[in-house]
Amino acid sequence: MNQVIEENEQEAWWFIVSQGKLVALDKGELIPFGSINDLPFPEGATVNKRLLGEYNGASCYLVELDDFLDVGLGDYVTLRSLLGRVPDLLFDMSGRALQIALFYKTHQFCGQCGQKMQEIDWEIAMKCYHCQHRAYPRVSPCIIVAIRKHKQILLALHKRHQQSNYPVYTTLAGFTEAGESLEACIEREVFEEVGIKVKNIQYVSSQPWPFPHSLMMGFTADYASGEVCADTHELVEANWYDADNLPIMPKHGTIARKLIEKTLKRCR
Ligand SMILES: [Zn+2]
Repeated sequence: MNQVIEENEQEAWWFIVSQGKLVALDKGELIPFGSINDLPFPEGATVNKRLLGEYNGASCYLVELDDFLDVGLGDYVTLRSLLGRVPDLLFDMSGRALQIALFYKTHQFCGQCGQKMQEIDWEIAMKCYHCQHRAYPRVSPCIIVAIRKHKQILLALHKRHQQSNYPVYTTLAGFTEAGESLEACIEREVFEEVGIKVKNIQYVSSQPWPFPHSLMMGFTADYASGEVCADTHELVEANWYDADNLPIMPKHGTIARKLIEKTLKRCR
């Protein structure tokens, strides 16, 4: 028993990142797992590992490499390509790895005085010892809301989805502004995008959305007043849909789909 634990302690998940992509295997859980000695890093490569957290009882490490250095394990892939192909928590950890790698890359110099920043070793932060300014990885709060009117749900086709192979009709979403509560953000975004007022705003759950560093905070709400009029800067169209006559929906595993399913249950 002890031996198994010892062996497990040495094995870890490896998030090998270069220029915004990460190494994925073409089998199993896709993220490389094993002891560092099993990883065929080329001789001379500087392997600087940073602890990200734990998954399934094993440590998760970030390794940043230059120029898509071939580690002989698999190709460098985009995070988006892992969506729905790895377990949710492993996907979130992959997002964390890429966000932290991006954070270190973009915080080499102090935003206040321009001096070189130094890594702090007890938390994930960069500090300027010249002016004491400290920076942390950016997380951008973003609301996402499914709206119900009696037995119908409001779904919109976003301009960014129009040209894709999978033109989904989905919920409304938007970034929280400085000084704004989540509730005020929902009221503002919904009014700006479709011209209606909502009520009964209820929090459901959240999902890190690392493209590049959003935190989606999911809500449901009910229609209160107004006529739907889609803002053509962001939307192609927005309409009320019956539960038995729906357009193309977001994929399972996304918070948008979860909010839609929850709202459809209330519609029926
Ligand atoms: Zn400074």
